[in-house]
Amino acid sequence: MATLLTSTFPADEEGAKLLKKLKIALANICGHGVSKKGIVLTAPRELKAGRDNLRSDYREIWKKCTIEFDSEETGASVLMKSYQIKIGPFFLRPSIKIVDLEEVLLHEFLHVALDISDRQFHHGIMTQILKYNLGYKEDSGIFMD
Ligand SMILES: [Zn+2]
Repeated sequence: MATLLTSTFPADEEGAKLLKKLKIALANICGHGVSKKGIVLTAPRELKAGRDNLRSDYREIWKKCTIEFDSEETGASVLMKSYQIKIGPFFLRPSIKIVDLEEVLLHEFLHVALDISDRQFHHGIMTQILKYNLGYKEDSGIFMD
């Protein structure tokens, strides 16, 4: 199960709003809610290993992921070896929509789930997956690494 590290988020109203939006985004992409301890059991349900060029063990990778707030993070990123998905202060903005967060979470997860080792090819494939395979609209223009 992926784990949303709720204690890493700012303990103010902005932080609480971001957490609330992230929980809804996770429920939308995984098909079930986040537990009180921040646990998200199943991997994003719309992804398909064959169609989306995923590693066969992508569901196991999801279980190792953590989602945390990092005040030093300029956008969002994922650490390839420790599977830490980092969300920065940019996403505290009220203009950030739940669907934006869904795309961010999928984007960062795909960096560690794609069965393509050369990271320079990832973004082109992600556009294919997010836009054409999953039906998300054009890139929201949010900075993601
Ligand atoms: Zn990226």
